[in-house]
Amino acid sequence: MATVEVTTHASGNNNDHVRRHNLSAVLGLAHRTGGLSRAQLTRATGLNRSTIADLVGELVDRQLVVEVEPDSSGTVGRPSPVVRPNPKAVALAINPEVDAITIGVVGLGGQVLKRVRYPTPHSTSAKEAVAICAAVIDGMRSELDTSYRTVGIGVAVPGLVREQDGLVRLAPHLGWVDEPLTRMLTDATGYPAVAANDASLGALAESTFGSGRHVSDLIYLNGGASGIGGGVIAGGVSLAGIAGYAGEFGHTLVNSTGAICNCGAEGCLETEVARAPLLNLVGLTDADADELELALTTSSSPAVRAEVERQLDYLAVALRNAINIFNPQLVVLGGFLGSLYAVAPAYLDQKLAHQPLLAARERVTISRTQLTSGLLMIGAAELAFESLLSDPASSRSAAL
Ligand SMILES: [Zn+2]
Repeated sequence: MATVEVTTHASGNNNDHVRRHNLSAVLGLAHRTGGLSRAQLTRATGLNRSTIADLVGELVDRQLVVEVEPDSSGTVGRPSPVVRPNPKAVALAINPEVDAITIGVVGLGGQVLKRVRYPTPHSTSAKEAVAICAAVIDGMRSELDTSYRTVGIGVAVPGLVREQDGLVRLAPHLGWVDEPLTRMLTDATGYPAVAANDASLGALAESTFGSGRHVSDLIYLNGGASGIGGGVIAGGVSLAGIAGYAGEFGHTLVNSTGAICNCGAEGCLETEVARAPLLNLVGLTDADADELELALTTSSSPAVRAEVERQLDYLAVALRNAINIFNPQLVVLGGFLGSLYAVAPAYLDQKLAHQPLLAARERVTISRTQLTSGLLMIGAAELAFESLLSDPASSRSAAL
C-alpha cells in the first residue's frame, strides 16, 4: 500500500525508479498470493487501472507473470483474467543434510515443481556436496534451459552462514568450517548462488506462504536430525542479526545442570530436546518425520509419554524466553518439535499458560508448520528470488 504513483514533476530517473518500484510491488503480490485480478491489484496497490495494465503488460513480456482466464462456471458476466506468477520462472533450491542432499526446482509463486533427494552414506565435505549438486543440475540442464528460465540457486544450510557473502562459517553436523559454498556452486554450475541458515529460510517460507501469512511477528523453531534451529520475523522483517546468525534457539540455556552441548556450552535446548532418544524409545533406528510422529502418537508406553513431557518441559523454557523477548503472535513448530506438540498439545499449552508474564502470552498461538516437506525448498528458492522480486526490470533472467 506504500506504493507511490508518478508525480507530475518527476524527472526521467524518478519515473524509472517509480516504475521499477511498482513492477516489484505487482510481481510481489502475484508471487505471494498465487494470483490476483487486475481489479484486485488496483485496490491492493492504490495505482490506477491503466498503470496496472501497463505494469502487468511489462511483467507478461518479461515472462514473469501470466494472465489466465478464471473458471467462469456459475458466474454472471465476463470474468476478469487472473494475473499469476509464471511457474516457468524458477529457482534451484539446495539443502545439504547429514544423510542426504536435496535439490529442487521451485517456480515463482512458491510451487515445488521437482525434488531430487540424493542420499549420502556419510556426511559429505563441501567439495563433495558441490560436486553432487553440479551433477544433479547437469542432469536437469536441458530441461532447465528449454522449459524454464532459471534465476539462480538458493541454499538452506544447517549452520551459520555469513549473510554478506554466503560463506558457511560453521555447519557443525556436516563438519564444514569457513566454506565459500556459494562461490563453489557458481563456479561449478554457472548460476548465481545465495545461501542462508535453514531455519531462517524455513521461517521466511512459513511467513510468506504458510501459517504465518498475514502475521507480522512470528517465531519458528525447527527440530531436525542435526539439532534445533530457529528464525524470527519481527515487524514483518526477517531478523538476521549483524552478520546473519540470529535465531539460534537451539543453543539457548534451558538446563543449568545439563549436559555439554557440541557448541561447548552446558544445557542447551538441543541437548535436552532431541530426536535420537525419541527414536530409541519407540524402537526405530532411522525414520522420517511422519514415521516418528505416527510411532509417538500411537504409543501407549508410559516411558514414551514421560520422555515427551520431559522434552516439552524444556521446550517450554525456551519458548517462554522467546515469547517474553519477542512478543510474537505466532510460534510455529517444525520437524519433530511439531510431532512433540501433536502428541501432547494440552500439556505444552498449559506449561506456557502458567507463566508470570501473562500479558506477553495472551495473544500467542502455537501451531505446526503448514508447508511440511516443501518448506526448506521454498525457503531456499525465496532467497534466490529476492533480487528478481525487488527489481524485476534489472534481473539477469528477466532480460532473457
Ligand atoms: Zn549449544
